[in-house]
Amino acid sequence: MRNNTFEEIAAALAQGKSILLFPHIHADGDALGSCSALCRALRKAGKDCWVLIEDRIPENLQFLDRDYCTTDQDILGAPDLSVCVDCSDMDRIHNRGRRFLSAKVTVCIDHHRTTDSFCDLNYIDSSAAATGELIYGLLTACGAEIDREIAEAIFAAIVTDTGRFQYSNTSRHTHEIAAALYDAGIDAGHICTEIYESMRMERLMIRNMALNTMSTVAGGRAVIAYVTQEMLRETGAFLDETDGIVEELRSIKGVEAAVFLKEAEDGSIKVSMRSKEALNVAEIAQTMGGGGHIRAAGCTLTCSLSDAYDQIRNRLTDGLERL
Ligand code: AMP
Ligand code: MN
Ligand code: MN
Repeated sequence: MRNNTFEEIAAALAQGKSILLFPHIHADGDALGSCSALCRALRKAGKDCWVLIEDRIPENLQFLDRDYCTTDQDILGAPDLSVCVDCSDMDRIHNRGRRFLSAKVTVCIDHHRTTDSFCDLNYIDSSAAATGELIYGLLTACGAEIDREIAEAIFAAIVTDTGRFQYSNTSRHTHEIAAALYDAGIDAGHICTEIYESMRMERLMIRNMALNTMSTVAGGRAVIAYVTQEMLRETGAFLDETDGIVEELRSIKGVEAAVFLKEAEDGSIKVSMRSKEALNVAEIAQTMGGGGHIRAAGCTLTCSLSDAYDQIRNRLTDGLERL
């Protein structure tokens, strides 16, 4: 599995005229920040470029979309290039797969450790804290100017995937890039206000209700909580407004692993897993058809909430016993 170089990817981008960017489904700050930064840089270079999404952008990330995002799969027809960003496999391109593959050349820029090189050109670096770090590397390698707007989008990508520079994926390099973004004129305080202090009241209400479902397993070394469609209806919250709850569960003293189960609209169960210092949750997620990182992973199960709960409890207990 060989990575291409940033220079090879930059050359391919330079040759294309129409370029579609694909963040993973249920795009987060890293996926949207990385796509927005790349989209702006490519448009400045004269390309027809759009970010193709298929679901709602979370309220607190909408400031990143300055007319870059579209749900119109035909906006460019078959593009010269498709670039998937922060997205580990075709499953997470979800219903946009046919459009993705209609491009002459496909490119993957990602940092998930479970990603295989599934595109024509690949840059996959699991040591990067965020795909935003890789976008920064790509843009600087091809001599693109990092203007303030691009810098703020990359900062949003990095600040969200590192949990505000706290998680163990944060490195010296992460901070060096952040320093360069300050040089480009970012207002970091304002970006953080947009992301973290622009919540809807409904978000706090669903958090409150979801935290009430919390229970411990494996003698208190793991915690599980869940959210159902009924709870969302009752509070008026969106499913994406439960993002962040699993990290709160992990923050409990003595807890090594936290799992949050989300009943989706179609009845499937989306599983978010986090670990603190020892358990490899990417491995557990992979055995259930998902993937991710060592400390943050997930999968989607097609079973009832209580079956998902039992499965997860067993895997957590096994995993923690083997440590
Ligand atoms: P989340 O809990 O949704 O924030 O996801 C945490 C990590 O797990 C992310 O890096 C995702 O890429 C990965 N992940 C979540 N769900 C899936 C899935 N269904 N398949 C593969 N990876 C996933
Ligand atoms: Mn992501
Ligand atoms: Mn990411």
